[in-house]
Amino acid sequence: MVAETGFGFSPWKLSGTVYGALLNHAPQLSALGETVNAAPYKAAPRFPVLQVRPRNTVCFSGSVVAIPALPGVLEIGVSLGIVISQVACRVSATDAPHVIAGYLIAAELGLPCESHYRPAVRLKARDGFTVLGSVIAAQQIADPNALKASVAVDGAEVSTLTTGDRVRPVAELIAAVTEFMTLQPGDVLLLGASTPAPRVRPGQTVRITMEGLGCLEFSLKPETTAPSAPEQVKTTPDSTTPTARVVYGGAIHTATPHPLGLRLEDGRTLPEHAVQWLPPFEVGTILALGLNYADHLKELSKELTVTAKDEPLVFLKGPGTLVGHRGMTCRPAEVQFMHYECELAVVIGKTARNVQRAQAMDHVAGYTVCNDYAFRDYLENWYRPNLRVKNRDSATALGPWFVPASAIPNPHNLALRTRVNGQLTQQGSTANMVNDIPALVEYLSSFMTLQAGDVILTGTPEGVVNVNAGDKVVCEIEGIGRLTNTIVGESP
Ligand code: CA
Repeated sequence: MVAETGFGFSPWKLSGTVYGALLNHAPQLSALGETVNAAPYKAAPRFPVLQVRPRNTVCFSGSVVAIPALPGVLEIGVSLGIVISQVACRVSATDAPHVIAGYLIAAELGLPCESHYRPAVRLKARDGFTVLGSVIAAQQIADPNALKASVAVDGAEVSTLTTGDRVRPVAELIAAVTEFMTLQPGDVLLLGASTPAPRVRPGQTVRITMEGLGCLEFSLKPETTAPSAPEQVKTTPDSTTPTARVVYGGAIHTATPHPLGLRLEDGRTLPEHAVQWLPPFEVGTILALGLNYADHLKELSKELTVTAKDEPLVFLKGPGTLVGHRGMTCRPAEVQFMHYECELAVVIGKTARNVQRAQAMDHVAGYTVCNDYAFRDYLENWYRPNLRVKNRDSATALGPWFVPASAIPNPHNLALRTRVNGQLTQQGSTANMVNDIPALVEYLSSFMTLQAGDVILTGTPEGVVNVNAGDKVVCEIEGIGRLTNTIVGESP
């Protein structure tokens, strides 16, 4: 039986982030044939094509998932979920079994897309679109790369598949992912769906069984477009005082600005360098905008096939990429071009779903500065800017201060500046955003529930230049703060 409302029950508490592999089914990739070498792809993916499946998408067996009236149909990607047991960084394929706690059945839902070239996040990051089953201990699964599965819709089998035929089987996928990003205990890495994906409509019930992993069940209903009921903002709405989160004396403190540096809540004042700065709020889903400044779009136009008229180019980032003020970011030894991106980060203060432009700013709690590094060498024309470009450990700096929205009457007229070793290399104004903040809140909340702590990185203006190990990069936004970061070389 499927529960009528809400998320189903799972004995396993989700503690981590869900990352999915796309195009990992070898027959799917070969079915693309020569088109992989045509523009805009130019070549088959050389590295795993990955996506973050954010927290609003995650639900469990027994859930009822809503499908929008258009197109009124969704595709079910049946995937094996690999649950990570310990911190996993640069794990070889041979050692990969040691970081696997267990496996689960995952249904990666998506609205049908015509092209694999940057399909919109809107198609996949919808509420409830990642349905997870119960975790089965790794020891109970002899060969995770040869599990038979079947999909039944309303009791009739519509598809059978296996977890085999992957471009990267379980161990190789873990090795390829942890080569550039650290997985945490409780994270789930999805092996990727088989094609063709069965399609379903509202009113139908889906049951997926996988050998040794039991079954996963959910049903579909039509989506309604009622706006969400507003929730109270956690922070005091009238405060205009910036706050930071810092580690000092082994504990996390809230701090406020002080002429000497910062002031802890107990009154102690400290210089900036005496503390470790964390991102200034508890970060939920990280939504990043690509090409959201007209001048930057022009700067990169030779390499691109998008125009400003397209749907906003949104991609998602995981929490492991975050670092605070005065943090350090690694420049891999082999890259030729690594650049900073100074961005206004917009922090959501209360739940937002189907919010109209006129009400959008009511859902913004405040702002901080982001430096969203990119590693241009790793850019491949598959899916979004891939995680290997945009989701490396410590390559997204946030801070120093969370500045309440009430302190910034007009966030659309702020100067942005980046200095590398004191030299001005980038400047722009938030006035030049292609999609402004209300447009972004309206767009994102039209397909996903935004929650307090979610953050929108609103893009960067022109002026991105290569930076090297030893460089000190300072991103500054008028009235918001000055975020410092140092590039370090790769440690052996
Ligand atoms: Ca960016």
